[in-house]
Formats: sequence, structure tokens, C-alpha cells
Amino acid sequence: METVEDVTRMRLVGGNLALDFVNTRTGPPVGSPDDDVLTGYPELVAWSGYSGVLTEAEAAALRRLSRGDPGGTRAAFERALRTRDDLDEVFRALAAGRSPSAQVLARLRDDEADALGHARLERGSTFGWDWRDDRTLARPLRPVVHAAVQLLTTGSLDRIKGCGGCRFVFVDESKNRSRRWCSMDDCGTAEKIRRYVATRRTRATR
Ligand SMILES: [Zn+2]
Repeated sequence: METVEDVTRMRLVGGNLALDFVNTRTGPPVGSPDDDVLTGYPELVAWSGYSGVLTEAEAAALRRLSRGDPGGTRAAFERALRTRDDLDEVFRALAAGRSPSAQVLARLRDDEADALGHARLERGSTFGWDWRDDRTLARPLRPVVHAAVQLLTTGSLDRIKGCGGCRFVFVDESKNRSRRWCSMDDCGTAEKIRRYVATRRTRATR
């Protein structure tokens, strides 16, 4: 059973909020995920605080709101998982050089329209969307959905990749686009050890 603490041990290596959200499920590069840190709405709120989507005050307000509305909370959590499935499909397809389906793109458009309907334009160095006034249980998902659409509309699609050692997806920001692993500390090191052992075995049998 995952806990709120497990959520805050997730590695944020996607280089984009939407990809980090997809990476809340772990497992092998292909096939079904074998673990998921998002086991309930409290974990979703915890992940949102951890990844910088919500301030501590916003997270506390959402926890209060959800305690008073179990039905709405269940629906919001199911919707979050559905959105994650959609984002997973979109970015995994792009990482594999395929196009996402029209249905999943239409749902993403609807989610983005809903997100912007709850946003306000906030002035920084430029204007940007802000969800501080959004007092709905869908609040954690708004910036995630918007980050996904931003990446699709303004990012380099050929930089979206899947890790060679696990199911994580990431934006390859390296100069020569040579990144193959979610992180060198995990999958990169595991691969180096695997190669080292294989080389030694070859030498030993010579
Ligand atoms: Zn990996």
C-alpha cells in the first residue's frame, strides 16, 4: 500500500509537469505498470504539493474541501486517473514515433478548455494562466493538463522519449539528443552494470 510519504519520494525527471504526472506509475518500458503512487485523492494532493502545483495552504484547503464531499472527491480522483491514462497514451505514442488517437486528443482539448475556464491571467514578466482562485476538487489537474497542451503545441515533439530501462517518459533536453535514461542514477547505472557483467562474462569464457 502506497502512502503519502511514498509520493514525495517519486523522482521528478520528466522535464515537464505532465510527464512527471505520467511517471507516477512505475514498471518496465513495455507492458503494464507494476506500481502506482496515486492510490487516492490525498496522494494526488500530496503529489501536487511535492511537484510544486499547489502551495501548502492550497493543499490544506483542498484536503478540507474533499473531507466534506466524499462523492465529489471520488469523482475527481477517477477523473484524474482517466486524465493520466490519456496523457500516458499521448506521450507514449509520441515517444514511439506514432500519433495519438483523435479521441484522446479531443478529451485533452475538453480538459484544457475546462482548465482555462477556471484560470485567470496573472501578470509576471509575461501573462500566464493561474489557478489560485480555483476552489474545485479538479484544481490539482489544471496545471498538469495545461503543461501537456503547452508541450504539444510549443515543444519539440522529437525530444519526447521513453526510458530504455523503465516506463518513465521525459523531454530530452540534451544538446545532441542522446539521453536514453530517465536518470543516470537509476536506469543508466543499472544498464552500465548489466553491460559490465556481460563484458566480464564474455572475457571469462574466452
Ligand atoms: Zn528509467
